Formats: sequence, C-alpha cells, structure tokens
Amino acid sequence: MPHKENISGISLSSKKETPPCPFEPMRPSYLLRDSSFYMKLAYNQALKAWEEGEIPVGAVIELGGEIIAQAHNRVEQCGDPTAHAEMIAITQASAKIGDWRLNGATLYVTKEPCPMCSGACVMSRLGKVVYAAADVKMGFLGGAVKIHQVPTLNHRLIVESGVLEAECSQMLKTFFSMRRQNI
Ligand SMILES: [Zn+2]
Repeated sequence: MPHKENISGISLSSKKETPPCPFEPMRPSYLLRDSSFYMKLAYNQALKAWEEGEIPVGAVIELGGEIIAQAHNRVEQCGDPTAHAEMIAITQASAKIGDWRLNGATLYVTKEPCPMCSGACVMSRLGKVVYAAADVKMGFLGGAVKIHQVPTLNHRLIVESGVLEAECSQMLKTFFSMRRQNI
C-alpha cells in the first residue's frame, strides 16, 4: 500500500525542489565582442546556476575586451545570502587585475542587480553595468530605485538595460513557474 512519508521527519517545504532546466546554452561568436556577446556568456552562467539548484542569474565582467570574471548565483550551495552572481564576479575581477577599483570595466548581468549588488557596483567603481531583465521590485539600478543617481555619490556609474532581455526574463519566469508547479 503506497504510503508517502518524509522519513527524516523534517519538512522539506522550505527548500524547494529545482525543476529540470529546459534551456540550451547559447553559442556566441567570439569574432564580434559586443554587449550581446558578453550577455550571452552571462546567460550561460545563469543556466549553470539553474543546473546547480540556484535561481538562474549569471554575470560576466569585461575590461578592455578581456573577460576578467564569469560567475553565477551560488546562495544555496554556499549557504550565503551574499553569494549573488555579481558579488562573486566583482571579487573575481578584483583578484584577477590585482586592484579593487574596477574603473573602466563593464558588468553584464542577466537580471537587474538587487540593493546589495547595486551598492557593490558603485563601491567597486565599475564603469558600466548592463543588465538584461529589469526587476521592478528589488532592482536598484532603475527598476525600483536608481541608486547610481544619488546626487551625493562621487562615482558615476553608467547603466544600460535591455540586452537579451526577452531570453533572460523568459528563463527566470520559466524557472519560477516550473518551481511553483513542482515540475
Ligand atoms: Zn544581488
């Protein structure tokens, strides 16, 4: 007789199961290094996050045409609320160039940065942030708040959005919708 029971006696409802990822990695041409090229790499990082049971967000940092960081969300694996793709990428990039000041570098990220990551973008003196999908609730680079436009800031951060927006927001929407339905 079928009997469903959680043998550990602990409710699993707090940690939701990750649905299988239905998306394929993109294959950007390395010949044309435009914003779409870097965002496609960030998209592929987001897919890695999904495959590792994380909310799919990916980030890439470029400096002078060179990729100096590629990272994805690792909050669940690290048990660390600061392990967002952007934070990890900023740390990687600083280590790579041996300077915490990322002047002239551009961060590409599949979702608009949250308050923490938007603050880190300013504090690391990134030159530019390009994000794909806007976040009207938690986005602090235009969606909910424009932290980069606080008049007393002495660092000017350029923000662009919309590159690969449809693909990146579709990935997030699909992830949350599948997870709600426990697919
Ligand atoms: Zn964040």
